Amino acid sequence: MSANYWSKPEAIPVTLLAISALNDEQSRLLLAELRWGSADKQVCPSCAVVDRHHNIRTRKQWRCKHCYHTFSVTSGTPFADHKISCRKLLLSIFAFIINQKGLGALALRRIIGGQYRTSFSMLHKIREALVASQSGEKLSGIVEIDGGHFSGKLRKGRVIKKSTPADKNTVPTKYAVQHRTKVSASAFPHHPNRRIVIVLRELSQTKSGHSLPLTGKQLGSGASRTIVAVCASENSADIEALIKRYVEPGTLIRTDEWPAYGNLKLMGYDHETVNHSKEFSTDTGVNQNQAESFFSRMRRATIGIYHRITPRYMLDYTVEMAWREDMRRKNTEQQLQAMVKTIFRAGVSKDWVNYCRGNKRPFELLFQASPS
Ligand SMILES: [Zn+2]
Repeated sequence: MSANYWSKPEAIPVTLLAISALNDEQSRLLLAELRWGSADKQVCPSCAVVDRHHNIRTRKQWRCKHCYHTFSVTSGTPFADHKISCRKLLLSIFAFIINQKGLGALALRRIIGGQYRTSFSMLHKIREALVASQSGEKLSGIVEIDGGHFSGKLRKGRVIKKSTPADKNTVPTKYAVQHRTKVSASAFPHHPNRRIVIVLRELSQTKSGHSLPLTGKQLGSGASRTIVAVCASENSADIEALIKRYVEPGTLIRTDEWPAYGNLKLMGYDHETVNHSKEFSTDTGVNQNQAESFFSRMRRATIGIYHRITPRYMLDYTVEMAWREDMRRKNTEQQLQAMVKTIFRAGVSKDWVNYCRGNKRPFELLFQASPS
């Protein structure tokens, strides 16, 4: 046993190699520092006093000097009463961060071991915390809004189409005949699992005012804040309620020419559109590239990592992608600090505590203009 067995690592490790080299006690102390922002002071979850509370090393807990409440590093967090070690917990959070396109539960299981459902519920506790931490602060400046269709693709039918004499006369049957009945594109929106993800992205240069067209450094600085919602369809009632809720009046909003965005000027917003059937960006620089950039990330994840996202948890995955998109310019250390703070601030999990014993979220988190 080395002399610094109980000591916390001096710098925050930012590689998987360094994180996995920490022992359980070091991981616990690192989580404590990331949670409370101090290496030797803790915040009592009962009376909120910041102090060097009594360290009960054998129980891996602290006892408050003021109210004698006993607490651990995960008390009052989504990982309260956890059975897995702090080492695995830290490793899971770190693996979630460094896999930029998302981390599947099976992939996490290969890192920390255990059962699939342990990894699955752990990852969802992280996502649930991200959903709870979505800022309600309104977007302003220039905001791009767009909707994307996700999940619920119809399967091709099982019935094999019969070849007709006409097919035989033209080209060989095996090329000419559709082997399964083809589902038309118009059928897709009607799949029961299909949902519309609406993204609202504030461009980063807009805080210091804007002038059009954008030039030089303003271009390419991307978006700074992202708000997402899942709707049943891209209808005007939901979209107008969403914009009222999350966008400051007077903001310049850029959308495509979908009719649901038609009333924005009447609602007191500046509104610019780009016709996507003609061009991706107008001559004056009106485009939706930041919204498209988000959907691009979302598609990479839904096709490559999360192969099936059900409506019940779609908002969680969407918010995960929004977090990744907003944190893309931060380094690993900043991402780890932000992530641990966000997760531990979220409080005890509602939908994922006792998931393995049958506790499940009973409904999906749809945004609705008037909740029914
Ligand atoms: Zn206390």
